[in-house]
Amino acid sequence: MDTLTEAPSSALSGVARVLVHGGKLKVQRAEELAAAAREKRTSFVAALMEAGDLTPSALAHSLSTALSVPLLDLDAVDAQRLPRSILDAKLIGQYRVLPLSKRGSRLFLACADPTDQEATERIKFATQLAPEWVLVEHDKLSRLIDAQAAPAAQALEAISGGEFDFEVAEEDATQPAPTEVVSEVEDAPVVRFLQKMLVDAINMRASDLHFEPYEFNYRVRFRVDGELREITQPPIAIKDKLASRIKVISRLDISEKRVPQDGRMKLRFGNRSVDFRVSTLPTLFGEKIVIRILDSSSAKLGIEALGYEPMEKDRLMAAIHRPYGMVLVTGPTGSGKTVSLYTCLNILNQPGVNISTVEDPAEINLPGINQVNVNDKAGLNFATALKAFLRQDPDVIMVGEIRDLETADIAIKAAQTGHLVMSTLHTNDAPSTLTRLLNMGVAPFNIASSVLLITAQRLVRRLCENCKQPADYPRPALLKAGYAESDLDGSWMPYRAVGCGSCNNGYKGRVGVYQVMPVTEDIQRIILALGSAIDIAAQAQKEGVRDLRQSGLLKVRLGVTSLEEVIAATNE
Ligand SMILES: [Zn+2]
Repeated sequence: MDTLTEAPSSALSGVARVLVHGGKLKVQRAEELAAAAREKRTSFVAALMEAGDLTPSALAHSLSTALSVPLLDLDAVDAQRLPRSILDAKLIGQYRVLPLSKRGSRLFLACADPTDQEATERIKFATQLAPEWVLVEHDKLSRLIDAQAAPAAQALEAISGGEFDFEVAEEDATQPAPTEVVSEVEDAPVVRFLQKMLVDAINMRASDLHFEPYEFNYRVRFRVDGELREITQPPIAIKDKLASRIKVISRLDISEKRVPQDGRMKLRFGNRSVDFRVSTLPTLFGEKIVIRILDSSSAKLGIEALGYEPMEKDRLMAAIHRPYGMVLVTGPTGSGKTVSLYTCLNILNQPGVNISTVEDPAEINLPGINQVNVNDKAGLNFATALKAFLRQDPDVIMVGEIRDLETADIAIKAAQTGHLVMSTLHTNDAPSTLTRLLNMGVAPFNIASSVLLITAQRLVRRLCENCKQPADYPRPALLKAGYAESDLDGSWMPYRAVGCGSCNNGYKGRVGVYQVMPVTEDIQRIILALGSAIDIAAQAQKEGVRDLRQSGLLKVRLGVTSLEEVIAATNE
């Protein structure tokens, strides 16, 4: 565009300058139109078209010649096949451009003004593609852009259907207030869509919702009974609005899209309120958002709902009702440790008991319990919170996780000085938890004198009662799975998953499989003698403690779950 530097008026830019230079418009008239565009907050091209000084066709031809940009008749294009989703609807509307095709790293875009540097930069940044302009007639382009702006909203209405009576309740005091509430988040279809997704997820007993932007599509998946399932593919055009909406109600910074953020939200419907933990992650094609449902009702279902066998339950209840000592719950992420701990805390939660928890972060809210979130930036970690608790006369302390010697030492000291301490460790089973503490550097005497009981757990899917069928496994397969000859006396049959209208591939809900190991005097002796996890496991066996596999096999025998589930969950 060097030739344009000699244009008559330096005040004119872009299209105006090209037209003046090409003799299509007088300088004074161009200045008038430019002023009109500024006043109406519209583009020069829009003002020119409205004034009618040039026809859309004449403008397109002039610019094509002057700027050597190819010309295209939009009537010859199948509007339904345009890869509209490549570009965010907001950018399409704002810069009045339409994606035509993508070749390699180049994005071909229809426009009426190829001189718009801002559009070029913004689109380049948003798509990470190099924009290549193709000139089209302004009127045809406008018709296509405006005709296609509606379907995204309509499609969303079709997915989300009726109205919901939701309310955003309660804010987390630890989160900063939203910096800005832009009008786009008040988009009614998006609000209804989000509400429908949340209600559907709760009704399906999902644990997480995933909102995932990809290059050409957008996907919503729910995790139900531990498995991800695709729920719907809403129009990709809503991804930014939906992300903004979720970020506003969870008090996140909506203008920050380049770093991950964490927040919470609470929604009330009817007389029930549900907490959600929200996390955002910048991916290549937009922010992926995961919403975890923190349903505190899961902790109030009671110990019976968790699937402890009678002896396991009795041993656990005996331990948590001791005046002091430590109870540890172990297992990998997603094994239901939090629900087990909170079920115990809920049992202990009486007006005369002071319960404090420190977590990273708290996943379940229980009234009457003092819950603290760790905040590493502010120097509040598990150890510092524990020290602070001890100055506040607690009876029961729950530490989210013991992952270092400092935390272990303070927790043990608390357990030795009149407090019941509950915590979790990432170990495979109960016996190896004791050796893990030893390896962390905790003195054997301190472990033996403070740890009352250790449970390990896994979650397996529950067979659907409606459709499960007896399964005919060959005897060797059952023996290989861990049954003894004496177990296979023909008095029972394993069941298998079938699948019906009321379940998910033959399963419905999940149930825990547990190893509940009290630290008896004999086990204490092994710890003091620096015995191995194998020695401890052997002693526990002698005392009637089922390991995870044996507990799972019992659940198969009782018809609660399938052999496949147990083998998958306890195959380590
Ligand atoms: Zn079924």
